[in-house]
Amino acid sequence: LHFLKRIETLDPQLNSLITVTAERALAQADAADARLASGDATELTGIPLIQKDIFCTLGVRTSCASKMLDKFIAPYDATIVEKLDAAGMVMLGKANMDEFAMGSSNETSWYGPVKNPWDTQRVPGGSSGGSVAAVAAGLAPIATATDTGGSIRQPAALTNLTGIKPTYGRVSRYGMIAFASSLDQAGVVARSAEDCAGVLQAMSGFDVRDSTSVDRPVDDYVSALGRDIKGLRIGLPKEYFAEGLAPSSRERIDQAIETFKKLGATFTEISLPNSPLSVPTYYVVAPAEASSNLARFDGVRFGHRAEGVKSLEELYKRSRGEGFGSEVQRRIMIGTYVLSHGYYDAYYLQAQKVRRLIYEDFRRAFESVDLVLGPTATDVAFKLGEKSDDPVSMYLNDIYTIAANLAGIPAMSLGCGFVDGLPVGLQLMGNFFDEGRLLNAAHQYQ
Ligand code: GLN
Repeated sequence: LHFLKRIETLDPQLNSLITVTAERALAQADAADARLASGDATELTGIPLIQKDIFCTLGVRTSCASKMLDKFIAPYDATIVEKLDAAGMVMLGKANMDEFAMGSSNETSWYGPVKNPWDTQRVPGGSSGGSVAAVAAGLAPIATATDTGGSIRQPAALTNLTGIKPTYGRVSRYGMIAFASSLDQAGVVARSAEDCAGVLQAMSGFDVRDSTSVDRPVDDYVSALGRDIKGLRIGLPKEYFAEGLAPSSRERIDQAIETFKKLGATFTEISLPNSPLSVPTYYVVAPAEASSNLARFDGVRFGHRAEGVKSLEELYKRSRGEGFGSEVQRRIMIGTYVLSHGYYDAYYLQAQKVRRLIYEDFRRAFESVDLVLGPTATDVAFKLGEKSDDPVSMYLNDIYTIAANLAGIPAMSLGCGFVDGLPVGLQLMGNFFDEGRLLNAAHQYQ
């Protein structure tokens, strides 16, 4: 009730939620009380959370922030929804986001932009802008999020939260509306690494319904939090501290490095030579996969259907033209182009080869270091509208986050200070399935 009241009074200013599920929440809270009384509870029983509106929720609108799915009531629960419900968590509502998770500012949502609680003239980052704004404003202690090219980490950085994107395949994608299937991963945002650890543990694990989910036991992230980090070897990629990073953000990150040194970590400079190629590579691979995944929204099976059409072709054209916003249409066009005959070899195949080189960079780096540290974003939160007419400058915003998705490795962001009252984030990247080490390093720092 405390959180539902806060949502009612504060969310009109933030627009962080698309749907509030008060009745469902109250029923879950009663069930949680009963479980707690009977001693059959988990650590998460009764803890409220917000689900990003990309996850299917049985009987509840699942819009992906698109007009296309504005009236779509999911007929089943995503695996992570099932798992967190089973742990006894209480879902308060569904978070706003960029349309189909395409964006870095949460301005592409059909339901309007989300405001950053630290300064409501500014963006909260994206695409998980609703998830972070809700948690940063205290509308919920935890929110789920997804990260295809930074959509957990960049918004967490812009709102002083901790967010983790696990290894590709660690968390099931079943019931998570697909954007770029080879990059999409679900994760969590919260106020601390400790809060993230318990929820991530409950979300993770093999799922027969997702063919890319990995059949490997989930580590105990919560008990990994107790270890000291003496001797932890951290690499600083020189490409991440080059031109493009705001000097004031850099100062905060340098201070955090000093703190990690005091905790016993050692630092070495490393090189990820192909990292300048990650933005162009991502903006070929992700739109290519998106154009294929979004072909299912044809006005016939589900989603928005145009009225008064005279032919099947007109039905497709108008339903998609009316249902998708301009950023989604731009991605579909880029993706269709790079996959088309005659361009496939020049763009898509080339991008796949560079993707391999980016992965090799990390593989080499993790032969000599345990973690990689760098900035999450180039600067603090920018103003609403500042970049919305300039897609290229918006895409360049993802420069530090995208490589982890292309390589498939886990990565997280945590707050490391403020510049003029606006949060700065620090990024930690780890080797495959090293989520426990990442969370513990963040926890020791916090
Ligand atoms: N900003 C990136 C994009 O627009 C990342 C999105 C994401 O991670 N979902 O594609």
